[in-house]
Amino acid sequence: MPEQPVTPVAEFDPEDEYRPEPPPEPVPPAWMDGSRRIGIHTSIAGSYLNALDSAQRLGCNALQIFSSSPRMWQGGPSRIPDVDAKAFRARREELRLGPLVVHANYLINLAAAQPMLRTRSIQAFHDEIVRAVALGGDFLVVHPGARGESTPERAVATIIESVKQAARRVPLGGLRILIENTAGMGTAMGSRLEEVGEIVAGLDSLPSGACLDTAHLFAAGYDIKSEAGLASTIDVIDRTIGLDRVPVFHVNDSKIPLGGRVDRHEHIGAGKIGAEAFRRILTHPSLGSAPPQGVPGRAFLLETPIDDPGDDRRNVATLWDLAGLKEQAPPAEKGFSMLTAAAKKMAARFSKRKAKTRVAAAGRGGQLSRPTKRLSGKKTKRHRRE
Ligand SMILES: [Zn+2]
Ligand SMILES: [Zn+2]
Repeated sequence: MPEQPVTPVAEFDPEDEYRPEPPPEPVPPAWMDGSRRIGIHTSIAGSYLNALDSAQRLGCNALQIFSSSPRMWQGGPSRIPDVDAKAFRARREELRLGPLVVHANYLINLAAAQPMLRTRSIQAFHDEIVRAVALGGDFLVVHPGARGESTPERAVATIIESVKQAARRVPLGGLRILIENTAGMGTAMGSRLEEVGEIVAGLDSLPSGACLDTAHLFAAGYDIKSEAGLASTIDVIDRTIGLDRVPVFHVNDSKIPLGGRVDRHEHIGAGKIGAEAFRRILTHPSLGSAPPQGVPGRAFLLETPIDDPGDDRRNVATLWDLAGLKEQAPPAEKGFSMLTAAAKKMAARFSKRKAKTRVAAAGRGGQLSRPTKRLSGKKTKRHRRE
């Protein structure tokens, strides 16, 4: 048998060694520069771009959107066409808006014990993640869900598992998933900050955190209206979730009194929480957007009703004012609102017609005889802010 040729040992030249360039230090986005970020939930009706333009015209430097219809399982395509996503990201860059918060669909119930609903919820939340990433979202906010017959402990475990499954194999990029606290209607999870904290802790393998809604806190029994109540609530937040894990606040006044456990938002200063409490919240050093005590880029986003044209713009201006930053607020476009007078009239006509149909159907013993809460609910007269 011929001898195997001996392969000569290659001379090792250290110059040949593959040395990749060190990865560049990630540059934090402009919205994390320590400045206060204030915005409002804006509508994507017509085009995703409309949401960005509305935010700018309303005097915001941050915003929240839905990425599809929030009350339908299939409210549009589950994926966003590449051209649309690209145009959206470019326009957002141009307008220097951030953070961008995407709010998930309301039908998603990550706590569901019932297998069909749970599967559907995980799939829908997966689609939410994919769309939020496509749009270049910074945060995706989701409600923890309702536990039904399940125990709170069991539900917490289910929620954690559902989020993990939905996020499996999706490169999240810069997206963080935020669990929102709730008012505690029915069997809704997340009205106790301990529960939110447990869920967030269970998700620490993912970029995650919490979004806290002031109206939900108040309705759930956290007295953020008083100075002492705010201080003790901040202590509880820090103990259960960790203040540094709360990069987004939903800033809403509440139609519902302390501990009323119902979720009804009101204009800032016109509800049970009141303007002075919001001034304390917006100027509290632990809730700031700048280090050392604050979280860079922390955003305060409104989800207040728009009963009359201009309510959106006025609520944004109120936040800047209460934060003591009127001078630094980006200019709003005079007279702009997401609700135009014409649209308001049309909505009123539409709901009148709907009510008529209901009455007629009731007369015939029709199916619509049981009025839905939404249609029958007497419109609460708007409290004028002084
Ligand atoms: Zn929410
Ligand atoms: Zn709410």
